[in-house]
Amino acid sequence: MSQECIFCKIIAGDIPAKLLYEDDEVLAFNDISPQAPTHILVIPKTHISGPAALTDADQALMGKLVKTGTTLAEQAGLQDGFRLVMNNGERAGQTVFHLHLHVLGGRPMTWPPG
Ligand code: AMP
Ligand code: ZN
Repeated sequence: MSQECIFCKIIAGDIPAKLLYEDDEVLAFNDISPQAPTHILVIPKTHISGPAALTDADQALMGKLVKTGTTLAEQAGLQDGFRLVMNNGERAGQTVFHLHLHVLGGRPMTWPPG
């Protein structure tokens, strides 16, 4: 738990979010500023600042984030395609420094990303 972290505050229930899934290890909720018709964030309940801060001990947790994201994408009807994104660092667009997986879908996606 990081005192200043907005996602830790969501985990603690101090900030509201539209929760989609929760268990002992992960939490999933709708992004407050959706960039696609479906825009879900999947986060670990432990505070990890971003992808580069993952350790070998976090490998199963990382797999769980992805599996949770793909399950939620299927539940949202995104079988035709969806995108999983993790931004690492300000230059890559990371604004919240608590590890999170974006699940985006419901519209055509272009490549390369901006
Ligand atoms: P990133 O830019 O990769 O760090 O993504 C952070 C995401 O968190 C952005 O898409 C924000 O819209 C989202 N976000 C920030 N605050 C909240 C909040 N209180 N509830 C839900 N999503 C949020
Ligand atoms: Zn946090």
